[in-house]
Amino acid sequence: MMDQVRDAIRDIPDFPKPGILFKDITPVLSDPALFRSVISFFASRHQDAPPDRIAGIESRGFIFGAALADRLGVGFIPIRKKGKLPAETLDATYDLEYGTATLEIHKDALRPGERVLLIDDLLATGGTAKAAAGLIEALGGVVMEIDFLVELSFLNGCNQLANQTVFAPIIY
Ligand code: AMP
Repeated sequence: MMDQVRDAIRDIPDFPKPGILFKDITPVLSDPALFRSVISFFASRHQDAPPDRIAGIESRGFIFGAALADRLGVGFIPIRKKGKLPAETLDATYDLEYGTATLEIHKDALRPGERVLLIDDLLATGGTAKAAAGLIEALGGVVMEIDFLVELSFLNGCNQLANQTVFAPIIY
C-alpha cells in the first residue's frame, strides 16, 4: 500500500522557490481508497495506546491529523501560522527549508501531562516539527511521537528531533 502512496506523490520542481523539489501529496488525498488506507495505517499504529490528543501542523498536518483524530476518537489541536488562532496563544519562531516562520498554539489547547501525537505531512529540515513540539511541551504536554507521511532523509531533520520518537513510512 505504501508503494502505491509513494507512486502517487508528485515531484514539483522549483516550488515554491527555485531549487526546491516539492513533494505534492494532493494526489493521495484525491484518491479515496488511498487516503483512507493512509489514515488506517496510522490508526493501526496508535489504536492500542491512543494519544490523549492529536496536534496537526498547518496546513497539510491538519488534513492527516484531523482524519486520524476522528478515526481514533481523540481531540484535535491545530498548530497554526501566526495570526490565525483567535484566543490567547503561545508562539515559536524557527527557520525552515525556505525562509522563517512563526507557529502558534492556543494556551488552553491541552492539559499538562496529556500525551500528544504530533502530525505533519513531511519532515524536511525538522525546524517546523521542532517548534511545534516545543509549543506542546511548553504547555506541559508530552509529545509521545511525531508522525509524518514522508521524510526527506537527506535533509537530516531527525537530528533536530533527536529527543523525540519520529516515524515516517515513506523515506526519500
Ligand atoms: P521543515 O521545517 O524544513 O521540516 O519543513 C517542513 C514543512 O515544510 C512541512 O510542513 C512540509 O509540508 C513543508 N515542506 C518542506 N519542504 C518540502 C518539500 N520539499 N516538499 C513538500 N513540502 C515541504
